[in-house]
Amino acid sequence: MTTSYLWTPAAVRSLPIRGRAERLPINRIFCVGRNYHAHAVEMGKPVDKSQQRPFYFTKSPQALVDSGATVAYPPQTGNYHHEMELVLVVGKPGFRVKQEDAHTIIYGYACGLDMTRRDLQLVARDQGKPWDLAKDIEQGAICSEVVPMEGVVLEHGAIELSVDGVTKQKSDIDKLIWNIREIIADLSQFYHLEPGDLIYTGTPDGVGPVVSGQRLEGRIEGVGEITLQVGPAA
Ligand code: MN
Repeated sequence: MTTSYLWTPAAVRSLPIRGRAERLPINRIFCVGRNYHAHAVEMGKPVDKSQQRPFYFTKSPQALVDSGATVAYPPQTGNYHHEMELVLVVGKPGFRVKQEDAHTIIYGYACGLDMTRRDLQLVARDQGKPWDLAKDIEQGAICSEVVPMEGVVLEHGAIELSVDGVTKQKSDIDKLIWNIREIIADLSQFYHLEPGDLIYTGTPDGVGPVVSGQRLEGRIEGVGEITLQVGPAA
């Protein structure tokens, strides 16, 4: 029997896949905080891996926007920041996945921008409040096409971002504090990971503000490219 709804349900969020006509349906969006030492230091919160576990926040799938879009400068911020990130795409279910098995649930990778209301984030952080308003932003999760790489664990590759042609972030994914295997093993202690879950793996140093009219261009060696145009205020 077909379910009838009071109104038309919101559309399934999805991403293009390189080399395929189908789009990849999105389930959840997880983000790793402070996963490059130089970025943790620039935020004034250095990480001691021997004493800490990774931490996470989430974004709504409704926040997802394709690479190449023009997005509104969001309300309630005066310090909207770019964070260029490697995005891991889960392709199989996984719960309490061992590090040595982590590759078995990987579908592929993409380039992502974890856009952030930095002003609100710093206030929330310092007052011990949640990060939702700082991170779960309408049009604030940008993602490129997904590049299928089933079972592949990326361990290195240049990651960089420019704003209006000026390089702002430049690092390598070999500098991840918690690598791909460690993230999957740790996050899957808390969640039954599912196909279509995205994991934004954290940003390198060089984060900074954007303003209306600016163009962002990012790339990750071996993965691809992402672009974003910042439009007028919402
Ligand atoms: Mn981030």
